[in-house]
Amino acid sequence: AFSVGAISVVEVLNKLDKNAAGRQAEQLNQKSVFDMLVIGGGPAGAAAAIYSARKGLNTGIVAEKFGGQVAETVGIEN
Ligand SMILES: Cc1cc2nc3c(=O)[nH]c(=O)nc-3n(C[C@H](O)[C@H](O)[C@H](O)COP(=O)(O)OP(=O)(O)OC[C@H]3O[C@@H](n4cnc5c(N)ncnc54)[C@H](O)[C@@H]3O)c2cc1C
Repeated sequence: AFSVGAISVVEVLNKLDKNAAGRQAEQLNQKSVFDMLVIGGGPAGAAAAIYSARKGLNTGIVAEKFGGQVAETVGIEN
């Protein structure tokens, strides 16, 4: 049986795919070393990455999701 009784979402995901994080880490290990690694995917991170890439540097961005506060605010005031 897949499961008996109440089960949390985390438990379901663990049963479906236990080693997803390990495979993702392995994929990252296969990548060559970045010249520039930008932390954060907000406007500042995007600008830093664009300018770095324009200079020909091998550039990466670490971001949970792209957009930063711009993607989270409801209204644009200016
Ligand atoms: C409610 C609200 C309304 C706004 N309205 C306007 C507007 O109308 N017009 C305007 O021009 N501006 C507005 N702003 C301001 C604008 O959103 C910010 O100035 C702009 O987003 C700042 O960009 P940033 O890249 O410096 O930072 P952020 O947008 O904050 O991006 C930083 C990113 O870095 C990530 N990060 C942080 N720490 C780590 C870590 N350790 N590891 C990995 N990632 C990390 C964060 O998750 C985030 O994605 C508003 C802001 C708010 C909160």
